[in-house]
Amino acid sequence: MRSRQIGAILLSAAALAGSLAACGSSGPTTALQKAKDDKKLTIGVKYDQPGMGLKKPDGTVEGFDVDVAKYIAGELGVPETGITWKEARSANRETFLQQGQVDLIVATYSITEARKPKVTFAGPFYVAHQDTLVRADDASITSLDSLKGKRICQVTGSNSWKNIAEGTNKESKKVDVTLVPAGAYDECITKLKGNAIDAVTTDDMILAGYAKREGSALKVTGAPFTDEKYGIGLKKGDKETCEAVNKAVTKMYGDGTIQKLFDKHFSGTGLKFTATGAPPAEGCS
Ligand code: GLU
Repeated sequence: MRSRQIGAILLSAAALAGSLAACGSSGPTTALQKAKDDKKLTIGVKYDQPGMGLKKPDGTVEGFDVDVAKYIAGELGVPETGITWKEARSANRETFLQQGQVDLIVATYSITEARKPKVTFAGPFYVAHQDTLVRADDASITSLDSLKGKRICQVTGSNSWKNIAEGTNKESKKVDVTLVPAGAYDECITKLKGNAIDAVTTDDMILAGYAKREGSALKVTGAPFTDEKYGIGLKKGDKETCEAVNKAVTKMYGDGTIQKLFDKHFSGTGLKFTATGAPPAEGCS
């Protein structure tokens, strides 16, 4: 009796250990595996950028990045109802992926050499260009050069201010500007309208969304000076998911979805869809 009890205890302990081990080994190791097994994904998008990623008062999110994310999730086997959205800010994208707080980031996320050691990037799925937004009555800012001596917004974790202050632009020109820190781009718009800065310079798609919302108060200079290769951020090393996402990107161009999504969010803003095919894949690394 006693030995049977001990035996039973030992057996259940072994079963418990076994199931714990199974948890560790058979739990989803990649975003693709999770998508297949659970039909669920957590995706980081911006919440404050009209046209790209915006959280509406009813709690839903909308925008070009959001729609691209939905399409990709669908291709990985996850319906819209299986997506949990999370607010990605410029500064938390890498840590969100590293800590497993999100499976994918689709948040105006440029593929850069500096980010590559920390992130596996699928894509690019679109190439944006950095431009500049100013108050409508300001005729002094018309180009990269004319930003000299001006106050620009410095969003933490964003690449845009570096492209100016550190010279990572098409003209390889370091421009001497005054950097005014902000946590996110919507804050920059408030600062610009309130005369606390002279310009918001970042991706043309981000600026187009704000310009549309703000109407005649602000204007985009229309003098782009970088290529921003928008990637889909994945946990570093998740090549399996990266390859699958790249297939979805190719399909999104082949079936015309990307242009439809672009037109849905940017028609009437002055931005034109010029891509003739998917941008060359960066390679999953
Ligand atoms: N695309 C640029 C970047 O990834 C600027 C926009 C942003 O910060 O989200 O840094």
